[in-house]
Amino acid sequence: MNFGTKLIHNGNEMDPQTGALSIPIYQVSTYHHGDMEKPQEYDYSRSGNPTRKALEDTIAKLENGSRGFAFASGMAATSSVLSIFSAGEHLIVCEDVYGGTYRIATGYFSRFGLEVDFVDAGDLEAVRGKIKPNTRALFLETPSNPLLKITDLKGAIRLAKEHGLLTIVDNTFMSPYLQRPLDLGADVVIHSATKFIGGHSDVIGGLAVVRGEELARRIYAVQNGFGAVLGPQDSWLLLRGLKTLKVRMDYQQQGAQKLAAWLESCPKVREVFYPGLEGHRGREVHFSQADGPGCVLSFATDSVETARSFMKKIKLAAVAVSLGGVETIVSYPAQMSHAAMPKAERERLGISDSLLRVSVGLEDVDDLIDDFQQALK
Ligand SMILES: *Cc1c(COP(=O)(O)O)cnc(C)c1O
Repeated sequence: MNFGTKLIHNGNEMDPQTGALSIPIYQVSTYHHGDMEKPQEYDYSRSGNPTRKALEDTIAKLENGSRGFAFASGMAATSSVLSIFSAGEHLIVCEDVYGGTYRIATGYFSRFGLEVDFVDAGDLEAVRGKIKPNTRALFLETPSNPLLKITDLKGAIRLAKEHGLLTIVDNTFMSPYLQRPLDLGADVVIHSATKFIGGHSDVIGGLAVVRGEELARRIYAVQNGFGAVLGPQDSWLLLRGLKTLKVRMDYQQQGAQKLAAWLESCPKVREVFYPGLEGHRGREVHFSQADGPGCVLSFATDSVETARSFMKKIKLAAVAVSLGGVETIVSYPAQMSHAAMPKAERERLGISDSLLRVSVGLEDVDDLIDDFQQALK
């Protein structure tokens, strides 16, 4: 079955009880235990809920994993996955990882004795150089945020396997439609389902998918124990959002490609970062592991003044954090997502004060181009 069909027909397209073509929202905390002698599938909704289960089974199928888990947010998914590690163990994390992941790795897990090193994951020799006897996992994100840097997933996974490490990939920017890291040998995939999977800027949620029963058992123990589970209503919204993932991303990606090409021709734009452009560094590696360039791009203007005045003048696009929604969203990393990062560190990573990030939505792209044109004047 091709991916688009799988989104609609994955075993969770109807309620097995009634044939309803939408999984009901089981708004329930506990379940009648009819026969104390017999184990039953559901007993308490932190441990399991049928609506959440439908979502978990669906994302497991879409990522070609053995088991899926739904959490209260992308960060709940990430923190729950990282909670399978123990004090004294060591993780290698890509240096341009999502800001929230950086924050919990340095400010939270470090307090519990988990060691973390950050590295430019585009440089596999640098990754190799960080591996220690107590290293347990690589944590990767590609394309990265906000510069769309590419990590060679196959190379990194090969390196991890040579050293007995797990590979964890935050696949939020690509979604399972465009990139399936488990197929390349990764062990865990994480999503902020708040972004493309939900797709409508109306729900916060997170997902994790694993390969193998042993890992599934460890993550289930954290999900059930910590209890950062996704509620039934939000699980239903994600099931609904997933059905249109492919059509949304196909259209948004087309728009992103056209907008990126147009931006490249603008005199006030110094550089455009988008894997769909010929000159993008890592483009070949990206297309060897992903099925499209995605719907997010960044661009640097000719000056900080241009960037600031653009953010003031832009009308159609929303000015906001987040991405992956039906509406185009523009953000200013230096003052929004990466404001907590010291300026020197930002500049070292290439996140200048004239850099803007765009998540292209479902508007007609010609209207977006008109809006960008007036905002750049
Ligand atoms: C938004 C985001 C997260 C965090 O997800 P939340 O749902 O906001 O908790 C993690 N990783 C990436 C790449 C993101 O864009």
